[in-house]
Amino acid sequence: MGEFELIRRFFLPLGERQESGSLMLGPGDDCAIQRIPAGRDLVFSVDALVEGVHFPRNYRPDYLGWRALAVAASDLAAMGADPECFTLALTLPAVDEQWLEDFSAGLRRASEAFGLQLAGGDTTSGPLTLSLQVHGTVEQGGGVRRSGARAGDLIAVSGTLGNAGAALDYLSEPAPSADILAVLEHYHRPWPRLDLAGEVRRYASAAIDISDGLLADLGHILAASRVGARIASDRVPLSAALSRLKGSKALNYALRSGDDYELCVCFAPESWESAPESLKSQLTVIGAVTAEPGLYLDGVDCGLEAVPAGYDHFRGKS
Ligand SMILES: [Mg+2]
Repeated sequence: MGEFELIRRFFLPLGERQESGSLMLGPGDDCAIQRIPAGRDLVFSVDALVEGVHFPRNYRPDYLGWRALAVAASDLAAMGADPECFTLALTLPAVDEQWLEDFSAGLRRASEAFGLQLAGGDTTSGPLTLSLQVHGTVEQGGGVRRSGARAGDLIAVSGTLGNAGAALDYLSEPAPSADILAVLEHYHRPWPRLDLAGEVRRYASAAIDISDGLLADLGHILAASRVGARIASDRVPLSAALSRLKGSKALNYALRSGDDYELCVCFAPESWESAPESLKSQLTVIGAVTAEPGLYLDGVDCGLEAVPAGYDHFRGKS
């Protein structure tokens, strides 16, 4: 199968025109065309995923299709952006029709679930690598940055943390229990918190998605905002499945393991007060921003630079 046939069969259906989107021209021309409505800003980000580094070797292609787009879409949620469209550059070691069928099915399900239409892409041969660029929009000036946290802000996180990190211990489990299946689901099918993006944009002072671990990602907010934080370990939300599986180690997964794709969000106290229950009920307040630098967990300095805190792509797990 040639490149054009491959694209026509497996990827063009993901670019079929939807009525409401900003995408004027999808796959098939030299470029895609996106019209940004007056008064809105384009928010975009690119992610590269390499087999054996960002996902396991011989990973199920339908999971990979979903996960790749979920991971990219999570960055839009962190900015408070509404999803619009994405491009995909796919490097494949060989043309395996069944693999492509399953991959594109997973990608298509994610594309529909997240409201992200395929705008275009490229395929080439080489070690399995995916690069996805996602486009979203916000009202002009409305993008939520990492740099907006101020002393006194509350720090909150969505969902429960640590599930996807714990799932890595069970990827080849032959007979997974219900608890193991529950944490595996977080790893295989993460849900970017696009459902919260609109309200985060309206009420948050700063936000980030938790891709590399709570301590590492909160650390990025603190560094960008030139502030510190105090968090209480007994407030960090853990799933019942994770607690049962990992006991006293569950908190460590929640603090230090990545791939959760939940949000960590800061709010000025008055913004939190005025935020609607629909947002607050999805979040757990775990601490507060301080003027003095440093990240303190239960009063103990986590030493942002010195202590292992998530994943560094060039140094690996420290
Ligand atoms: Mg991110």
